[in-house]
Amino acid sequence: AAKQSGGKKSVHYHEGINATFNPDLTLENEVRVAIKLNQLELYFQPIWSAHNRIICFESLVRWNHPDRGLLRPDSFLFMMQSLGMMIALDHWVIQQSIKQVRAWKYTNPGAARITINVSAETIQNGDVVKFIQDCLTREQVDAEAITLEVTENTAMHNIESGRDTLSRLQQLGIQIAIDDFGTGYSSLNYLKTFPADVIKFDRSFVSDSRNQTINEEILKALIPLCHRLGKKVVVEGIENKQQFELLKTMTVSGFQGYYLSHPVHSDAAKKLLVMSRKSQVAKG
Ligand code: C2E
Ligand code: MG
Ligand code: MG
Ligand code: MG
Repeated sequence: AAKQSGGKKSVHYHEGINATFNPDLTLENEVRVAIKLNQLELYFQPIWSAHNRIICFESLVRWNHPDRGLLRPDSFLFMMQSLGMMIALDHWVIQQSIKQVRAWKYTNPGAARITINVSAETIQNGDVVKFIQDCLTREQVDAEAITLEVTENTAMHNIESGRDTLSRLQQLGIQIAIDDFGTGYSSLNYLKTFPADVIKFDRSFVSDSRNQTINEEILKALIPLCHRLGKKVVVEGIENKQQFELLKTMTVSGFQGYYLSHPVHSDAAKKLLVMSRKSQVAKG
């Protein structure tokens, strides 16, 4: 476009401006105020049972950027992390998620659970326990409606203080899920030492078609192991019917992925919930 509108000179002129324009600095300044300006928004991706019933929604944050549209977390979480904003973000997401659960609670045909991603920073900071407790009391939502997802790496970061926080949350009735399971360095060690109720297998076990046979064998061996250790199993990243049918043979408790439903806005989530309950009633 620059070539068409004025040749080389114009390009240099623009580059001159860009030299003093640091895009990261702009992003940084925008990210700093995104929460305050109410630009964050939650999307909800259902987790389905084998009988096509919604058992839970996962909260996934989006940034409604004034110029760039709806941004996914990979484009701004790294910046929030480097600005020390993760606790503020997680608290915002927790608060909004619990409000959403309350809204669903008073909707026909009723309640839904929610699962919330939290960062290492939040788990290492014990304040999260009281923060969640206060949100639950204010919104009159049961702790049993809430799951927190931590990744293996989060959990690993500072294992002692993190484990203590997670145990206190579990004592309240909140469930803990290990997210992206199988991608960290010592996954099996987590099964042994970590207070988790739910194991959420990483989508690479489903979608990495080059290693399909070995992935299938890993899932076939590990899913029963998780059950024997008293943990529920969720599989994410299901993108087609074939993957879904295969996983349905493996006693998975929760199924999630674009094939079943993309993350959606809260209105659409409510419609999915209503539909899921109706079809449940219809089937008896
Ligand atoms: P995650 O928790 O593992 O979430 C799953 C990601 O995979 C989501 O991306 C989701 O939209 C996407 N996904 C769902 N189904 C499929 C599928 O079938 N195929 C593929 N290829 N992808 C699928 P999203 O929303 O961009 O989130 C990316 C990551 O950002 C999340 O990974 C999570 O680690 C983090 N994140 C998202 N929301 C929050 C939040 O509110 N707080 C914190 N601390 N982290 C968040
Ligand atoms: Mg997650
Ligand atoms: Mg995941
Ligand atoms: Mg992830």
